[in-house]
Amino acid sequence: MTGTAQQDTEREDVQGGVGLTALLVAAARAIETHRADSLAQDAYAEHFVRAAPACAKWPLRAEQVPDGDADPLWGRFARYFGLRTRALDDFVHRSVRETGARQAVLLGAGLDTRAFRLDWPDGCAVFEIDRPGVLDFKHRVLAGLAATPRAARVPVPVDLRDDWAGALTGAGFDTAAPSVWLAEGLLFYLPPAAETHLIDTVDRMTPAGGALAFEAKLEKDLLVHRDSPLYVATRLRTGIDLLALFDRRPRPDSAGALSARGWSTAVHTPFDFTRLHGRGPMPEGNDALEGNRWVFAHKPRP
Ligand code: SAM
Repeated sequence: MTGTAQQDTEREDVQGGVGLTALLVAAARAIETHRADSLAQDAYAEHFVRAAPACAKWPLRAEQVPDGDADPLWGRFARYFGLRTRALDDFVHRSVRETGARQAVLLGAGLDTRAFRLDWPDGCAVFEIDRPGVLDFKHRVLAGLAATPRAARVPVPVDLRDDWAGALTGAGFDTAAPSVWLAEGLLFYLPPAAETHLIDTVDRMTPAGGALAFEAKLEKDLLVHRDSPLYVATRLRTGIDLLALFDRRPRPDSAGALSARGWSTAVHTPFDFTRLHGRGPMPEGNDALEGNRWVFAHKPRP
C-alpha cells in the first residue's frame, strides 16, 4: 500500500501536512469500530477516509490488514488510537458528569466526532478548534451523511498558534462556566511556546472544577525511534512522516505546569489502559510509543 499524500508541513487542508494525521486517526477508528473486540465505536470515521482521495488505498477493516495486530501501522498503531479514543471517551463522559460542565473544548479536534457519538447531558456545547481546511472537510462529510450532533456543536476555525482564545470566546465559550478540555494527539505538533501558551490559557479560562486531558511525548530526542517499525511503516505506506511533522524542540513540562498551578494530575502510559481493558498495544523494543503519556488533570474546587 502506498500513499499519495503530500508532506508539506504548512499545508492547511486535511489531505496534506499535519491535517492528514487526522485522517490517519480516522482510518484507525474505522478499523477499531468493526473489530469483534472493539474498544471504541465511531461509525463516521470510515466516511472521512472514503471522502479523501489521498487515502484511497488505506484499509478500513481489520480483515483488510494481512498481518492483523502484528502490522505495525494498521495493526498496532491503529489499536493504539482505538485505545486512546476509548480512554478519552471515558474521561469526557465522566468529567462532564462529575464537574457539571456544559462546555467541552476539543483542541486540534481534527475528525473527532465526539459531539455526534457521546451521550451528552442536555444543554452541552462542544467547541471544535482546528484549522479551517480540516473543519471544512469535516463539515462537508458530516453534512453529506445528514449526521446530527448530540450536543450544540460549534466549529472554531483557527490556528492554535494564533489568538484561538479570542476566537473561542467569540464563538460563545463562557470562561466563567465549568469546562472540560481535550488535546488528543496535538501538543507535539505545536511549537513549545504555543504549548506553554495553550496550557496557561486553558488554566486561565477554566474555573475550579474543570478538567483537561492531553497527550504528551516524553522522549528527549524523538529521532531515537526513527527506525522503529511504527514510524517507518507510517511513512512508507501513508506518506505521513510523523517525525517531520512533530516539533522536535525540547517540550515544556505541561503536567508539571498544571500541578504548579494547583491542578491534580495523573500521568499514565497507554499500556496502563491496555492492562485495564485487557487488550491494546504492549511495549516492544525500539518503540515509537515508549514516551507517550496520557495526562488527566483536574482543577480542584477550593
Ligand atoms: N484530536 C483529533 C483526534 O484525535 O482525532 C485529531 C488528531 S490529529 C493527529 C492532529 C490534529 O491537530 C489535526 O487535525 C491538525 O489539523 C491539528 N493541528 C495541528 N496543529 C494545529 C494548529 N497549529 N492549529 C490548529 N490545529 C492544529
